[in-house]
Amino acid sequence: MTRVAFIGLGRMGHGMAGRYLDAGFTVTLWNRSKTKAEDLIARGAKWATSPEDAAIDADAVVTMVADDEASRAVWLGPKGAAKTMKSGTIAIECSTVSYDHAREMGRELNARGLIYIDCPVTGLPDAATAGKLTLLVGANAADLERAQPFLAPIGSTIRHFGAVGSGTVYKLINNLMGAIQIAGLAEGLAIAEQAGLDMKLVLESIQAGVAASPQVQRHSKRMVARDFSGATFTAALRHKDAAYAVKLAESLLANKPPVSRAAVEAYAQAKATMPDEDEGRMIELVSRPKKPS
Ligand code: NAP
Repeated sequence: MTRVAFIGLGRMGHGMAGRYLDAGFTVTLWNRSKTKAEDLIARGAKWATSPEDAAIDADAVVTMVADDEASRAVWLGPKGAAKTMKSGTIAIECSTVSYDHAREMGRELNARGLIYIDCPVTGLPDAATAGKLTLLVGANAADLERAQPFLAPIGSTIRHFGAVGSGTVYKLINNLMGAIQIAGLAEGLAIAEQAGLDMKLVLESIQAGVAASPQVQRHSKRMVARDFSGATFTAALRHKDAAYAVKLAESLLANKPPVSRAAVEAYAQAKATMPDEDEGRMIELVSRPKKPS
């Protein structure tokens, strides 16, 4: 049986790990907090005491953790997976990390005889559970072919952008544009509310209008209703992605990107007050009425 080590069982990783069990893989799990693994262990997954322990005998190691710091810890930390991975084993980074980090991990793991591909994803946790994520891959073609059997259980679409790091470039611009749209939507709705418009009509008009991207469609309903139940993507993660994207932008563009920087600032405020809440609660920060002068 094909053996996969899966590291990081948050909102996304939990569903993705379950897909490998459904597909008949031998699955070894590690997460910083074990409670999130209990039901997967009951379904047949093995628990490892560290990433290093999880990677022993694995044919591929898949990570889905929060950020650069977490990724570095699980690959290269004192008990990192790279310690026990055999030469030629495939390392699949599904976490959204920075461009510099993805390239650095590629170099570090290649130097240890390992294959590294960056494979951030789009899709919400329900798509992760259903194996219907879109996988945004950076890898050389031969490495991608070797990784295919480990990508099939988790993704329904693979978009191959080029060499290691290129999947991450696309993921960061995708999420930066999302950050700008959500922050802009929050401000637009706040203005409409304070101006006393009929919000049912505003919502109907937004949904039928030209600015209604899927992101705007989804968040406009939740923001107008102030219904943020079932947080799928947190303010802290949105801030992280936008900040990584702006860092990349500033390494490539002559002028600092003003709109992108404003979105980072907006999400820095949301992160400071509600890091683990749904990103759409951004509207609560901007909708307070001005005091009469
Ligand atoms: P999440 O629910 O907050 O889970 C974060 C995961 O990272 C948990 O397993 C957490 O462990 C682990 N982690 C955090 N810091 C760590 C550290 N220092 N060392 C080791 N493990 C650490 O996040 P998520 O929504 O699943 O997102 C995971 C990744 O997918 C992120 O990079 C995110 O940007 C990306 N993503 C998310 C979505 C979405 O809709 N949620 C969609 C696409 C991509 P604990 O359980 O112990 O806290």
